[in-house]
Amino acid sequence: MSDTISKTACKVFVTALVDAALVVSHDQQVVAANDAAVETLSSSLEGQSIAMFLRSPDVLQAMAQCLAQSSHHQVEFVVRSRVQRTLDLHLSPLGKSEKGALALVLLRDRTREEQIERMRSDFVANASHELRTPLTTLSGFIDTMQGAAKQDEKARNEFLKVMKAQADRMATLIDDLLSLSRIELDEHLAPNSQVNLNAVVRQTLNLLQATIAENKTELDIDLQSDLTVQGDANQLGQVFHNVIENAIKYSGQGKRVTISGRIENGEAIVSVTDNGPGIATHHIPRLTERFYRVNVQDSRMRGGTGLGLAICKHIVNRHRGRLVIESEVGQGSTFSIHLPFVR
Ligand code: ADP
Repeated sequence: MSDTISKTACKVFVTALVDAALVVSHDQQVVAANDAAVETLSSSLEGQSIAMFLRSPDVLQAMAQCLAQSSHHQVEFVVRSRVQRTLDLHLSPLGKSEKGALALVLLRDRTREEQIERMRSDFVANASHELRTPLTTLSGFIDTMQGAAKQDEKARNEFLKVMKAQADRMATLIDDLLSLSRIELDEHLAPNSQVNLNAVVRQTLNLLQATIAENKTELDIDLQSDLTVQGDANQLGQVFHNVIENAIKYSGQGKRVTISGRIENGEAIVSVTDNGPGIATHHIPRLTERFYRVNVQDSRMRGGTGLGLAICKHIVNRHRGRLVIESEVGQGSTFSIHLPFVR
C-alpha cells in the first residue's frame, strides 16, 4: 500500500476547505487549487509555477524550505493590482506525491482587517484632537483667571461665558460619540414599529424653533400626509434634526429652507433643500465620514462636531434606506432621506 497522495486527492482536499488554498509540488507547480484561491489571486493556477503569481523572493524561499525541510512558514504577500491587497500565506508540508514533496498554501486576505484598524486609529486620533481643543482653551482661561485676571470681575465674567461654551462643545461631542456607538451596535437589527414621517418631521421642527427664529429662516413645508415607514421614531428624528439644522446653520440668516415629503417608486422620501453656499462635488462622497468637514473652522464656529452626517448614515442604513446628497457650489444643497415605504 502506498502512502503517497494523488493529484485527485489534493483536489478533493482543497475543494473541501473554506479558505483559499492550493497544493504545490516539489518543483513549485500548483497541483490543485480551490475556487477561493483562484478568486483571491485573480488568475488560473493549476499547472502553473507559483513564481508566476506569487512573485516575491520571500515567498519562493519559504516555499523551497517548506518542501525541502518539511517546515511551516508564514509570509506576507502584497498583491499590487489596481487596489493593493495584503495576503497572509501559511505554508505547511503535506506529505508527498509519487514525484516528491507537497506543500499546502492557505491564503488569508488581511486587507479589510488593516483598513478597519487604520480607521479605528484615525477615529481615536480625531476624537482625542476634537476633545483636546476645547480643553486647551478651558485650561488657558483657568490660568488667566488665577493670574492676570484674578481681580478683574468684568474680564472674569467674559471668560466664564467662553468657558461655558467650550464645556458645552465637549458635552455635545461626547453625546455624538455615544450616539454613534449606540447606533452602530444595533445597526444590523431593522426597526419594527410603524412611524409616520410627517409627524416626526413636525416634532423635529418644534425642537428647532429657537434655531429657526435665531436664523430668521423661512420654512417651506410640503409633506404628503401618508408617509409611513418601518422605523425608530427617535432615530429618524435625529436624522431630520441633523439635516434640517445643517440646512439652517450653513445657509445663514434669512434664507429659505424647503422640506418636502413624497412617495416615489416604493420609497418614502423626505428632502431638505437650502439656498446656502452649496458643496463642491469632490467633498460630497466624504461628508458622511466621521469628522469630515468642508471647512473645520466654519463647522466649529457653528457648533458642529463633524459627526452629524455619519450618525445619519448609520441610522438610515439601519432602516435599509439611503441618504442622497445633491449640491452645487453657489446653488445650495438637497439632502434626501429615502426609506422603504410601508403600504
Ligand atoms: P457638522 O457638525 O460639521 O455640521 P456634519 O456631519 O453634520 O458635521 O456635516 C459635515 C459637513 O458637511 C459640514 O461640516 C459641512 O461642511 C457640510 N454640510 C453639511 N450640511 C451642509 C449644508 N446644508 N450646506 C453646506 N454644507 C453642509
